Amino acid sequence: MSKTIKNYGFPTHVINYHHWCKSKFINGVPCMIHNHEDSCRSSPNNALELNSKQRSHSINFVSSDYESLDYDHYESELTVREEKLNGYRTVVASNVIRWLIYFSIAICTAAVGIFIDTAIEYFYDWKYQSIRNCIDVKHSMIECLIIWLLFTVLPTIIGCSVVLFMEPSAAGSGIPFVISYLNGVRIPRMTAVRCLFVKVVSVVCVCIAGLGGGKEGPLIHIGAMVGGSVVEAWWRSFRNSPGQKSIGPLQNDRERRDMMAAGAAAGLSAAFGAPVGGTLMSLEEGTSFWSSSLMWKVFFCAAIAFPTFNAGKNIQFTKSTNDSDSVDSKSIYFFGKFNETAYYFSYSEFPVLILFGIFGGVLGALFVNLNYRLSILRMKYIVSNRKKLLESVFVATFVTTSSLISMVLFENCQPKIKINSSNVIQMNCPAGSYNEISSFWLHTQEESIRSLFHYPIDAISITSLIVFCVIYFILTELTIGLNMSAGLFLPSLLIGAAWGRIVSIIIHYYSPDFIINDPGKYALLGAAAQLGGIVRATISLTVVFIEATGNVQFLLPLMITLFTAKWTGDFFTDGIYEMQIKLSGVPLLVSEPPPLTSDITTEDFMSDTVCAIPHILMVGKLVDILNTTKHNGFPVVASKVCFCRTKAKEHKCYGLLKGFILRSQLNVILEHNLYLTPLHDENYCTKLKLIRNSMYTCEDIKLYQRLNIDEDERSILIDLRPYMNPSPYIVRLETSLTRTFRLFRTLGLRHIVVINNTNEVVGIITRMDLAKFRLWRKATTMGLKEVNVY
Ligand code: ATP
Repeated sequence: MSKTIKNYGFPTHVINYHHWCKSKFINGVPCMIHNHEDSCRSSPNNALELNSKQRSHSINFVSSDYESLDYDHYESELTVREEKLNGYRTVVASNVIRWLIYFSIAICTAAVGIFIDTAIEYFYDWKYQSIRNCIDVKHSMIECLIIWLLFTVLPTIIGCSVVLFMEPSAAGSGIPFVISYLNGVRIPRMTAVRCLFVKVVSVVCVCIAGLGGGKEGPLIHIGAMVGGSVVEAWWRSFRNSPGQKSIGPLQNDRERRDMMAAGAAAGLSAAFGAPVGGTLMSLEEGTSFWSSSLMWKVFFCAAIAFPTFNAGKNIQFTKSTNDSDSVDSKSIYFFGKFNETAYYFSYSEFPVLILFGIFGGVLGALFVNLNYRLSILRMKYIVSNRKKLLESVFVATFVTTSSLISMVLFENCQPKIKINSSNVIQMNCPAGSYNEISSFWLHTQEESIRSLFHYPIDAISITSLIVFCVIYFILTELTIGLNMSAGLFLPSLLIGAAWGRIVSIIIHYYSPDFIINDPGKYALLGAAAQLGGIVRATISLTVVFIEATGNVQFLLPLMITLFTAKWTGDFFTDGIYEMQIKLSGVPLLVSEPPPLTSDITTEDFMSDTVCAIPHILMVGKLVDILNTTKHNGFPVVASKVCFCRTKAKEHKCYGLLKGFILRSQLNVILEHNLYLTPLHDENYCTKLKLIRNSMYTCEDIKLYQRLNIDEDERSILIDLRPYMNPSPYIVRLETSLTRTFRLFRTLGLRHIVVINNTNEVVGIITRMDLAKFRLWRKATTMGLKEVNVY
C-alpha cells in the first residue's frame, strides 16, 4: 500500500525507508540506519516486575510501579507555534479561567467539608441519644452494649467495605499520597471521583464509629482530589467549545499540581479554620517547587474555603437550634477562645515547654515505630479482604468494650454545673452529676478537644485522663493503617491534650502558685507536642494552632515546643508520613540530597543502556520500540552509535542529542496516524490538541501500549522533530549526584539525559535512579545506602 506524506520537508511520494535513506541527508545530518534494538529490547522495568511479588515488607525498597509527573514546561515546534497563533487574548482568558477554577476548588472543598461535618454531627447525636437512653433511662447495660456495638460495628463495616471493594486507594488519611503527588509522583486513581466518594463515606463512618481517626487528614486529601477533579471538569466542559483554546494552557501536570496544592490547603483551612496554616502546610509538607505566584493562588483558595465552610456551618447550626441570634455562636476559632489566664507565660516556664517538646517527640517516635511494626505485620498476615474487614470489626469492638468498661470501672462523678455540655451520661451518679469519663467517649472529637482545653482544672480527674490517654493511644495506633479513611490530626491532639492536662494537674498539685488555675494552655502545648512529634511539621502547625486559638500570644511557647518535639522525634524515627511513603515504596525525593554524595558522579548511577530513538525512523521500528519497552521517555538522536571514554570507564554513545519525546506523545502520533497529516494543513490544530491532551491524559498510556499497525504502514517514515522537545535538560557525565538531585527536585523533572562532551547521549536518569539513594539512620548502618528497586 502506498501512503502519501507531506511532512516537514519530506518527499511527498511513497517512502520506502531503506531505499530513500541511502541517498538522503536531512538538515545536513546523514540519515543512518540505527541498530537500537539491543538497548530497547528489554527494559529494566520488565525485569523488575518479576520481582515485585518477592519484595520484602520493609522500607528498604522503592517501587517501579509509580511513574513521574511532568512539571517541565513542554516546548516543541508545534506548541510554540500554537502559542504564537493564540496570542495575548488567550493568555488573558486562560488567566481568568485559572482564577475561576481556583475559586470553584475552594467552594467545592468547603461544601464537601460541610457535608461531612453535618453527617457526622447528625449520626453522632443519634448514637449519643440511643446510648444515653439505654443507660440512664432503661438502666440496661447489656442492651446498651448491643446498641453501642451496633453504632460502632455497622459504620465500621460500611466504611471498610467501601474502601476494600470499591476503591482501595481511599484508605488512610491520604496525606502521604498528596505529599507524593505534589512532589512529582503519579499516584494511580488518586483523583478519581469514585475515590472522592469512597473517602467521604469512609471518613464519616470512622467518625460515627468513634474509632481513633479524624476527618482533618482526609479533608486535605479530599481538597487535593477536588482540585484535580474540578480542573478536569472544566476541561471536559470546554473541550468542544471555542473556549478550548483558553483552557488548553491549563492542561498540564504543573497546573494540575498547583490546583491540587491549593485544594489541599483549602481542605486544611476548612478543617481547622486556618487559611494561613493551610497554605504553609501545603508548602511545608507538599510542594517541591514553590513560587510567589503559587503561594498567592494557594492562599486565595484557602482564604475562600475558610469563610465558606464557616458560613455553611453557622447556617446549619442556626437551623438545627432554631436560634437566629446564634450565627456567631459557632466560634470561628476551632479550638475555642481561651481564658485570659491562659495567655500568660513566664520565662520560668520555658524549661517545662522544652520538656513538653521532648516528651511529645519521644511519644511521637514511639507511635511511629509501633505503627511501622504493625504495618509490617498487617502486610504479612492480614492480606485477604475478609481478614482486613475482620480486623476493622475487632478494632470497633475494642473501642466499644473498652469505653464501656472504663465507664463502669472508673466511675467518677462530677457536678454538671462545672461544664457546659449536655452530652454526658449520668450512669450511677447522683442527680445533677455525670459519669466523668463518658464525656470523652460520647462527644465528637472536636467537643472532646475543646473540653480538654477549656474545662476547669478540677472538672476532669487525673485517673480519667490517664485511662482515656492510654486507651486512645492504643485505639489510634490500631486505627491508623486500617482499610478505612482516617486521619491522625485530632486523635493525636486528644492524646497530647490529655497528657498535657495530666502534667498541669501534677504541677498544680505540687506547686499551686506555678500555674494560674488554667490547665488549658498546657493541654494545648501537650497537643502541639504530640502532633508535632508524630507529623514533624513545625511552621505550619505553629500557625494552625495560632489561627485555631485566635491568640498570637501562644506563638513563642508553641514554637519552642514544636521545634523540640521535631528534633527529638527526628532523632529516633522518621515522621509518620515519611514512614508510610517509604513503606509503600513511593520514589519520593526528599528536600535535600543525601549527604556525602558529591563524589558520586552521573556515570556511577545513570542507566547506560539507553533506548534512544532516531529523529527519523520507520513507523514499524517505533511501534516495536514502544512494544518492547516500558520507558516513558526517549532521547531523540541523530547519527550513529559509537564509544567514548572517561577516566573511569568506556561508554557507549547513542548518537547526537536532538531532543526528547514522551511515550504518551508517541502513542498519540501513532494512534491518530499524525505522520500522515501534513503539518501545514487545516488539521494542524487537531494535531496540536491531540499532542497536548496526550500529555494531560497520560494516565491512559497503558491503554495504547500495544499498538497494532498495518504491515504496509510499518515502512513509512516518520519525522519526530516537530513533536519532540528540542531542548531537554541534560547533565554531563562528571556531574555529581548532589547537583543532579537538586536539579531534578527543584525543577520537578522526569528524565535527564546524560551527554558526553561532544553532545552525544551516553545515559539517562530518572527519579528511580535518584530515589534509591537514602540516608540510613540505623546505628549499625549509619550513612548512605542504595535501597532495592522492585
Ligand atoms: P517514569 O516511570 O518516572 O515516568 P520511566 O518509566 O521512563 O519514567 P523509570 O520507570 O523511572 O522510567 O525508569 C526505570 C529505569 O529505566 C531507570 O533506571 C531509568 O534510568 C531507565 N530508563 C528510563 N528511560 C530509559 C530509556 N529511554 N532508555 C533506557 N533506560 C531508561
